[in-house]
Amino acid sequence: MSNTCTFCEIRCTIPDGLSGRCGMYTNLDGQIIERYPDSYLIEYPISIETTPFLHFYPRHTFLQVSTIGCNFRCEGCVSELLTQTVSEFSPSLMHKTPDMIVQKAREESCHGIVFAINEPAVSLPSFLRLAKTAREAGLLIGCSTNGYFSRSSFETLIPYLDTVAVGIKGSSDKEYQMCGAQSPEPVFRTIATLIENNIHVEVTVVHEQGNEESLLRICNRIADISEHIPILVMRFIAFGDAELSMEPGILDSEQICDQIRRRSPYAYLFNSPGSSYLDTRCPRCGSVVVHREFYGPMGARVIHQQDNWVCTCGYHVPYTGTWSRTSYQEKGMMGGYRPTRALEVIKAVTTCLGITDAHTSARVWVDFISHNYIDAIHRNILNIETFYEVITHLATITGKDQEGADLIAYIRERTGYISGLVSGLKKPTVLYAMGTPLFVLNEERFENKMVIAAGGEPLNRDLPRQGKPGIMVEPAYINQMDPEVIIISGFLSTPVEDVYAICEEKGIDVQAVRNRRVYVMPPSWDFGNPRWILGLANLANLLHPDEVHIDMEEEADRFYQKFYHIPYADARPNRSFFRPSSEA
Ligand code: SF4
Repeated sequence: MSNTCTFCEIRCTIPDGLSGRCGMYTNLDGQIIERYPDSYLIEYPISIETTPFLHFYPRHTFLQVSTIGCNFRCEGCVSELLTQTVSEFSPSLMHKTPDMIVQKAREESCHGIVFAINEPAVSLPSFLRLAKTAREAGLLIGCSTNGYFSRSSFETLIPYLDTVAVGIKGSSDKEYQMCGAQSPEPVFRTIATLIENNIHVEVTVVHEQGNEESLLRICNRIADISEHIPILVMRFIAFGDAELSMEPGILDSEQICDQIRRRSPYAYLFNSPGSSYLDTRCPRCGSVVVHREFYGPMGARVIHQQDNWVCTCGYHVPYTGTWSRTSYQEKGMMGGYRPTRALEVIKAVTTCLGITDAHTSARVWVDFISHNYIDAIHRNILNIETFYEVITHLATITGKDQEGADLIAYIRERTGYISGLVSGLKKPTVLYAMGTPLFVLNEERFENKMVIAAGGEPLNRDLPRQGKPGIMVEPAYINQMDPEVIIISGFLSTPVEDVYAICEEKGIDVQAVRNRRVYVMPPSWDFGNPRWILGLANLANLLHPDEVHIDMEEEADRFYQKFYHIPYADARPNRSFFRPSSEA
């Protein structure tokens, strides 16, 4: 007998013995029940700004939990693999009773627990049990959600919630239909219910190329509810091989933030390293009250804040709860959405080994989680020699030993060739940055090892502190370093014209800018993907324009034909990143 699931507004009709859209509920003899009750994929402490919440218990530590599955299907989703291959990921779920999670939160000195990364509506009975136990234990409870709860299911949760981040996908039915839903109205109803119940609310929206009008309509509706609701603007990132043309430049996203801030002063820009639009400015005098920097995809970190968020002019910037003077230090690839980067690394390598189906990739991911190999990945992708260990490990567990050996042999051969070309050449000084030159990468990063291998001298040394994956610096700091070349990472990048515009606006006057030697790497050519070998060849060209003349079209085509079985011309990004061979 079929039954209708009412946990969310998708309202799946589920035949007996089968599952609904999210894959997390099944119809058992007419009853809709959870398939994996009290089962979690992730359970680790985080600083609250990585969830992210910016105006809720600033800098405090929370225990982040997630399950798997989602009721939406959105293009370019950062957690796509975790949410859409539920059966394959289910073996990696850990059975955790609410008491066990609360105990863990206490052991880690957490202020509360947040359900994030995937959608809590798909694990509502478990989340509800956890929320009740946490409340009884005096812990705070929050979640990130797309807000598509049914009215009845959300009412059961409301008494236990302290904070909610609602991700809004668009302002029209059409945009919601693209995610497999019907309309934004249930989401606005969820937000209104939260406000009526005095629950802290933050809203996340995505800025992608061409959705500006819709984005501003959403923000106007939010401002109509309350101009004090923080609006977290996520600049669209072309994860994996997603369409790069959807990714707006950082300056474009900053302009959108300016427009939103005309009504909502607490609008922030994420996924834009080096942008000052993560700072909280005083609505009265414009001074910076809270200074933050990029801290991984969808993440932020407080670097400095005025006591109690009181501006020097006396204005009290609103926030909920208390603020902490220090932040939790997440390990390796943990915290917020960072584990999804590890997933991307695994996917990138296994694709080169000829594994293209999501199911096998999910099985590999399960193996990594069960053997606690995420930390090892993080360590091994920081050096050229240890990157080979990642390839070997993945080749072994997928039975692709020969393909792994071929990939390693190919990369070793090209590395040796490039090292021969640059040997003995003068080493130009190079600053490796992400997003804008104002966000410089940590010395330990792979990108700096590539600079050395390509015959350059990395300047990312002796930084005043460490960030993830780097730190924000002042223009004067870059001027003092005076790099001959600036390379902008292929991840979270922005068009090179934007970089020059930012340099001019910020007064960055260095050799690299004067001599037009600022370059943006192609996506996935400099970190966590075997395509770094193309990035290395590209770097050798860029650092030694008079001596090294590798034909990058030919180089890329050889790699693509061998490991993806397609011509490079079919996959080339729609932006030009490297020096055309005609200039060689
Ligand atoms: S929670 Fe899952 S099964 Fe239930 S209605 Fe929503 S998508 Fe369908």
